[in-house]
Amino acid sequence: MGSFKSSKIIESVSKKMAEEFYSPLPKGYKKGKTKFVIVTGSVISGLGKGMITSSLCKLFADRGLKVEPMKLEAYLNVDAGTLSPFRHGEVFVLDDGYETDMDMGSYERFVDKNLTKDSFVTSGRIYKQMIEKERKGGYLGRDVQFVPHVTGEIKKIVRNLAVQSKADIVLIEVGGTVGDYENMFALEALRQLVYEEGKQNSCFINATYIIEPKSLGEHKSKAAQLGLKNLMSIGIMPHIVICRSITKIPQKIREKISMNSGIPVENVIGMEDIDGIYELPLELRKRGLDELVLEKLKLGKKFKANDKKLIEWTKQNSVSKNAPIVKIGIAGKYTGLKDSYISILKALEHCEGKLNKKVEIEWINTRLLGKGNLKEKKKLKKLNGIIVPGGFGKDGIEGKIMVAEYCRKNNVPYLGLCLGFQIALIEIARNVAKIKNANSTEFESNPENPVIDPLEETKKIEGLGGTMRLGGKNVEIKKGTKAYRLHGNKNKIRRRFRHRFECNPDYIETFENSGVMFSGKAPKLPIMQILEIPKHKFFMGTQFHPEFTSRPLNPDPIFLEFVRQAGK
Ligand code: GLN
Repeated sequence: MGSFKSSKIIESVSKKMAEEFYSPLPKGYKKGKTKFVIVTGSVISGLGKGMITSSLCKLFADRGLKVEPMKLEAYLNVDAGTLSPFRHGEVFVLDDGYETDMDMGSYERFVDKNLTKDSFVTSGRIYKQMIEKERKGGYLGRDVQFVPHVTGEIKKIVRNLAVQSKADIVLIEVGGTVGDYENMFALEALRQLVYEEGKQNSCFINATYIIEPKSLGEHKSKAAQLGLKNLMSIGIMPHIVICRSITKIPQKIREKISMNSGIPVENVIGMEDIDGIYELPLELRKRGLDELVLEKLKLGKKFKANDKKLIEWTKQNSVSKNAPIVKIGIAGKYTGLKDSYISILKALEHCEGKLNKKVEIEWINTRLLGKGNLKEKKKLKKLNGIIVPGGFGKDGIEGKIMVAEYCRKNNVPYLGLCLGFQIALIEIARNVAKIKNANSTEFESNPENPVIDPLEETKKIEGLGGTMRLGGKNVEIKKGTKAYRLHGNKNKIRRRFRHRFECNPDYIETFENSGVMFSGKAPKLPIMQILEIPKHKFFMGTQFHPEFTSRPLNPDPIFLEFVRQAGK
């Protein structure tokens, strides 16, 4: 009887505590079932936290652990859909249609699996959900505060991913740098999470930066020390520190970091810049990173490393130094920042290992080309193949049309991705079908011949916002076509989309009479999704983005054939 009473009391006290500290647990959550690895960055942004997290995922997955990466992004945008690729790198699209930043692309490529919107959470999305909940009275009369409410929601989101994914380890990358205002609540939430989960269920890793001023000619660790102090001042003592640097750091620097932070020197790892990212998992493995984490999580004994698999993966992703070069042009808008087209660059890299060819990229400025700039025109002649990537708005459009025309007429391999698919059609409409003033309604409000027009579904919901056709959808492939052959005689594939416009169905027949073969379309809908010119060496366009689903050792078949033909 007595014990019944006391357990009742404990229950009611802990209920009160839960209310006080607002730490709701998702349904079905069991402490200790999933472990958490948290990766933060100090000193500078752009340390490669995303690549470190992806590499760790790979190392754990190779051991047979079920891993789930996630990114807590600090900014207030609800998703990454409105971010300019010029400032933030490409907008990556998940199969479920969620628009994320490019780090999700590297997770998917390294872990070789599709992720969902649960793995990419911005502060904006959390605040939006919270404000909506507050308006519905969801906080039961309480004043809603950053601590415990925002932190409580963050912990719930992280734990929810653990429940949904049934992962052994959830790896959380915290966007931004330690000391930013924006990620403060995420860091506080994760500090609490680690406290609540217990020592052997979680591991904090801080990636920091060792500077190497040219004038001094030696490594300096002060900035890193201050970064770590900053982290410790908010109650987080990392278990492991990864010192990023340009060149290899000496032992002395590791000792300094260790002495100043109290973190054992064995747990301070140096990771200098390396040539190719595919070597990173192996390099981190050589430095014992995965062992250190798993030892902390008490998982190391059960899940053994698979070095053979890793060495093979690294080897297959590399190209020999004297491999023949294939020159590929990318005729896009954002030629200043290569992260704007990162998935395209990765998809090309995936072909390199398979074909043992080195792809060299040449950026083509389509604005200059459109204005008839001779130097830019001359560049085209040196190229073995050209990609017109996705894009929005009319900037540089005439230059892109010139590229499509050049490739079509000169039998130069052409790959049009989303916008590049539409560009090819406008060019063919104007120059082959001789349709007067053919254009897309995206670039001209009332063209005489709108060969590219908004999708039917977009027309219906115009004005309501969110009118993009997004995410993974099926593509029906026509038997006997190049697309059919390239995809291993499959008549159905699934690819990712992000568009508002399409080939106007009224012109499909005209295009077919002008030498275009629509080899892929949406099942049961007249949305054209792949075009090819059968007589051409390689001329293909896809309304989808094959680059989002290309993976190391498993390159997208269209990219692979494009590079193969370009290299011939
Ligand atoms: N702007 C075009 C459209 O909305 C192409 C989009 C893209 O390339 N992602 O249809």
